[in-house]
Amino acid sequence: MKKELQYIFGPINSARIGKSLGIDVIPKKICSLDCIYCEVGITKSISTEIKPYFKPENILEEFRNIYPEVKDNIDAITITGSGEPTLNSYLKDILTGIRDIVKDEKEIAILTNTTTIDNKDVYKTLLDFDIVVPSLDAVTKTAFEKINKPAKEIDIKNIINHLITFSNEYTGKLYLEVLLAKNVNDQKEDIDTLISVIKKINYTRLDIGTITRPPSYSFATPLTDIELDEIKAYIASKGVSFIKDNTVDDNANNTVISYHNPSPVSNNNNKDVVIGKLIPILKMRPTTIDDMIKTLKIDKNTAQEVLAPFLQSGEVTTKEFNGILYYQHKVIKQV
Ligand code: SF4
Repeated sequence: MKKELQYIFGPINSARIGKSLGIDVIPKKICSLDCIYCEVGITKSISTEIKPYFKPENILEEFRNIYPEVKDNIDAITITGSGEPTLNSYLKDILTGIRDIVKDEKEIAILTNTTTIDNKDVYKTLLDFDIVVPSLDAVTKTAFEKINKPAKEIDIKNIINHLITFSNEYTGKLYLEVLLAKNVNDQKEDIDTLISVIKKINYTRLDIGTITRPPSYSFATPLTDIELDEIKAYIASKGVSFIKDNTVDDNANNTVISYHNPSPVSNNNNKDVVIGKLIPILKMRPTTIDDMIKTLKIDKNTAQEVLAPFLQSGEVTTKEFNGILYYQHKVIKQV
């Protein structure tokens, strides 16, 4: 059986970044937030401490082996994690190592919850990425605490000030992401305060979304399509643009936009290879059979055959959310 990858996953597909190879640089759920909608499960180890986690040499060795296989099928490399990637103090070394391997052939992106942007080293390292995707779900202390359940030392005002400064200094593409949960951060005053901050951020693209997969906290509820569209229309009516750079394709076909719900893309029908790609994905987030069929380019029977032994052993379980059945690895913990 093909060895399961430890750090590399995908390729993943996103309207903003295109097809990219994902790199997980932080152990599972080491995060500064415990977002109620998190697809990776509850944060057991909430921390803002930046320290050595996964070593660059191990990540780069795996990347060096995989990259030649996939480079013709991807547009970019995305650094992310099943926690907050900027908490890994090796981030700069990892970025430099990847840049040495891919040269200028690919853009390198990072998805971050933004809470470490006030750290000088993180700030400087983020400036070196081609694409930064910061998430900002709420700007008032009350809403921030409700939706993101932050580590107690995080000061949202300070984070916002640094994000605004960063966005004006940064010369790459900044794709700002906001996630709304029903009756949590979607009230008029939440949206109005959010708009006032968004207007100060120099972003390339703004995405407003809602919960699409089983959340870590069962009370977290998505907005309906109509509710989301109404809020987007309201935001637009206040003079906020969703796309500020006409090189960004707003109509790009994608199944995945969010930092937290990447979608794997593969052409390989070999079952061992499918398992090697699928299990790391199921450990990162709940996935539907349709996702597997579309993105791994396999038929329904193959998907079911691949899943069967894992379902039988309990390593993979199912969960229904919004009338849709998801498969997830047992390492994802929800309440
Ligand atoms: S959604 Fe992202 S930032 Fe929020 S708890 Fe999960 S991993 Fe951390």
